[in-house]
Amino acid sequence: MRAVALVPARPAPPIPLPFLPAPVAPASSVSVGAAATSSRARSASVVAAAVQLADPPPTHVILIGTDGTNLDKVLQYAYDQPDSGFRAVMEQGVTGATTLVGHTTISGPSWSTILTGAWDNKTGVINNIFNPRPYDAWPTAINLIEYSRPEVNTAVYADWQYINDMAAAGGYAADVNQFVAFDTTWEDTDDQVVDATIARIAATSVTDSSFIFSYQVAVDEAGHAAGGGSPEYAAAVVNTSENIKRIMDAIDVWEFDNPGEEWTVIVTTDHGHQQSKGFGHGFQSPNETSSFVIFDLEGDSANDGRQNLNYSTADITPTIVSLFDVPLRSDFDGVPMQSDPAVLASLVTPDNLKQALNDAVAMYGYPNIGTDIALGVRTVFASVPYFLGIITNSTTAQLQSLVDQQIFLISTLAQGAQFVVQLTSDALVGVTQVVARAVGHLTGAGTIAPTDAPLPAPPADSVLVPILV
Ligand SMILES: [Zn+2]
Repeated sequence: MRAVALVPARPAPPIPLPFLPAPVAPASSVSVGAAATSSRARSASVVAAAVQLADPPPTHVILIGTDGTNLDKVLQYAYDQPDSGFRAVMEQGVTGATTLVGHTTISGPSWSTILTGAWDNKTGVINNIFNPRPYDAWPTAINLIEYSRPEVNTAVYADWQYINDMAAAGGYAADVNQFVAFDTTWEDTDDQVVDATIARIAATSVTDSSFIFSYQVAVDEAGHAAGGGSPEYAAAVVNTSENIKRIMDAIDVWEFDNPGEEWTVIVTTDHGHQQSKGFGHGFQSPNETSSFVIFDLEGDSANDGRQNLNYSTADITPTIVSLFDVPLRSDFDGVPMQSDPAVLASLVTPDNLKQALNDAVAMYGYPNIGTDIALGVRTVFASVPYFLGIITNSTTAQLQSLVDQQIFLISTLAQGAQFVVQLTSDALVGVTQVVARAVGHLTGAGTIAPTDAPLPAPPADSVLVPILV
């Protein structure tokens, strides 16, 4: 089957009308594609319920996230490198070139979809200013696992605080949640994230079920600093690939030491990048909406090196939770990739995987003009409070350096100015975020309500703040 002949099967559901709130009831408003998705989710939910009767065997799953990474750049720079990590996972698993068309191409919204299985028209996340509330209504894979199977060991390693904040949200936090602060370069910092990930894999007990989310940021940082078409971006893609190889090698060692036990590996990104230096991403151009899901399922070697054009970013959480026999939510936008009949029927064996994936990337285009404009407006408004926050932090940091020098009078003045800048700007961030949320809602973000109840409040002894009676 030729990849170019296929229509992109499962983009994010298009928003109904620009600038108008979508109806709350999803059944009457979703597109044909989304409706098909939700009925598939229901059928898979029945399968998962049946499977749950058995006592689940130990399961080991790792999700590897690489921020802002274009699949065509992976194929161009990392696929043919000696000991390519990306190629290792692709050759042991199944790769889907996916698209985020209809969904905001910003990290906060996209990692929220990756970790909740719901698009931004449900979660309502519009930018990178962290807010824990969406994850109370739309629990993460970590929350769902920790609620249903608290004995599963969950761990998150990341060098972007938003990811660690997500891992702590939703009432049922990750057991281990390690933030790696910037050190020398972003690539060095990613290397430290991967060091911690590898140590965790090596220490994983064969009898305990475990889930790891390992997140690297250097590719996205290179895209912002120099553009997606830059040599810096290419170097960061190669560094990420080498890090993925180190993780795969650690898994190989672990599997050699524990015969018969295997890890499931999923590799994904949250969005792509514009080619030239500038805004980076956030809009609906094909370079920004381009994404991928690589899925190496434990015990499955029959599908090694194949391609699946029916994978979706929203499938990642349904896939992970069902591997742990955690019940699927009725309002997931995705389905378990390992068991959904329609997704399994879309597996193809390309003559040349690299060429087939390049063909798949090339077939994705822009959304309709209404969606394009609506999501562009949303991103512009959503960026104002975020950039204000960054400017404030660098301004107050510079003032702090004056305070630290303890220069007579100047240091005291700097401290006062710092207070004023912080106060004024916090208010500005707050006001502009309220405006951005309103624009987000008008353009469809967070307009579809959950159909499942929120997870019950966690037991009091697991809450850090003591409850006074
Ligand atoms: Zn970015």
